[in-house]
Amino acid sequence: MRYVSTRGAAPALAFDDVLLAGLARDGGLYVPEAWPVLTADDLRSLAGCDYAETATRVLAPFVDGAIAEDDLAAIVADAYRDFAHAAVVPLKQLGPNQWLMELFHGPTLAFKDLALQVVGRLFDHVLARRSRRVTIVGATSGDTGSAAMEACRDRAAIDVFILFPEGERVSEVQRRQMTTIDAPNVHAIAVRGTFDDCQDLVKAMFNDIPFRDRHGLSAVNSINWARIAAQVAYYVWAAVALGAPGRGISFAVPTGNFGNVLAAHAARHMGLPIVDLAIGTNRNDILARFLETGSLSIGTVEPSLSPSMDIQVSSNFERLLFELHDRDGTALARAMADFRRDGTLTLSPEQWRRARAGFAGHRLDDAGTLAEIRRVWETTGEIIDPHSAIAVSTARACHADRSVPMVALASAHPAKFPDAVERATGIRPRLPERLADLLERPERMTVLPNDLAVIEAFVADHSERVAA
Ligand SMILES: *Cc1c(COP(=O)(O)O)cnc(C)c1O
Repeated sequence: MRYVSTRGAAPALAFDDVLLAGLARDGGLYVPEAWPVLTADDLRSLAGCDYAETATRVLAPFVDGAIAEDDLAAIVADAYRDFAHAAVVPLKQLGPNQWLMELFHGPTLAFKDLALQVVGRLFDHVLARRSRRVTIVGATSGDTGSAAMEACRDRAAIDVFILFPEGERVSEVQRRQMTTIDAPNVHAIAVRGTFDDCQDLVKAMFNDIPFRDRHGLSAVNSINWARIAAQVAYYVWAAVALGAPGRGISFAVPTGNFGNVLAAHAARHMGLPIVDLAIGTNRNDILARFLETGSLSIGTVEPSLSPSMDIQVSSNFERLLFELHDRDGTALARAMADFRRDGTLTLSPEQWRRARAGFAGHRLDDAGTLAEIRRVWETTGEIIDPHSAIAVSTARACHADRSVPMVALASAHPAKFPDAVERATGIRPRLPERLADLLERPERMTVLPNDLAVIEAFVADHSERVAA
């Protein structure tokens, strides 16, 4: 399996090189040259497999020999061993043919652990084999940061720098999950700016090729294809649990950077019988507006109760645009340059039709989010977080065919967002035992301006140079 850049001007790479590269050298994102195929027999053979086995089988064709199968199986098994639930991603029933898939039983209580616990170990494995080290830089609006830091902490060949917007947008629990990790190779940087500023700074560091080579820059944010590949597994897992290949399945995905829902899209390309794929957004609804109008247009980021979805430019959306441009990297590179310049990108009627055929969209504001948390609690007894509430609301709005199971993705544990949950239900959710003293642990972070030169200097001072 080779991977090609969405902008068509970077060399095709194998899985392990894509893992380490993150963003392609032409500014594009890597995608598989062709989709692996999951046949009906493959799906039938996954019935009864445990989660790690399922994930290994789903990942294997993406890795395609770049890592030995036994090693891959051991890495994946190790990644999910410490999840707090035996099913790893348990499914709970909320109503008639309505389900909730809990993706928050990993160490940082958000769905990002599902991919990053695997990706951190994959890095370790590949770097050890090559006697190399890397500097991981990433931007987070909340959950990626702690998940990346937990996945890479104390790993000898990795330095990690996570940029997050300073101030209110990251919840206290989210911030503390980043700033209380006591590991010398892990750095939390609060940037005076928005999440999109943080994301732009990371992209700019990658586009500074001498800097990138000097420090062996690498990414574990959702532009890294290995993360998308690891996420495909839980869509397959849920589908098999609920009757695939004999029965179709629909998903509602709380969406920010489009990484989670892109994994569902990949699963569908591979042959998983996904009927509807619904994108849930908060008031930062660029994706919902895109589906309504065929035009992407950037607004300003507005803070909401679901901060991990407070995003205007969804970086992974480029991977869908690549397909809508019939995998013509040159055409997409032009479109992306126009988008950067004008702040809007309008698709052709045919491209828009294809986008709508693939996805439904739904938006929920903060009042609706609180009402949904309350409704779920009153009708099922389940306490859910604001991001998951958007998924459940989206699932209800987009559940067109009631004979098809609809699975809403619960992307964070309610105790990550206790204020919103308490406002909605009067109940303050408690952190699980292993994080119970989080609010008392000492914090460690550096506040820096939204200035590329300052950020690069900090990274240079706190990481080891690598030979190019
Ligand atoms: C990251 C995150 C999202 C958004 O996922 P994307 O892959 O960026 O679309 C939603 N909910 C939570 C809790 C998250 O951490």
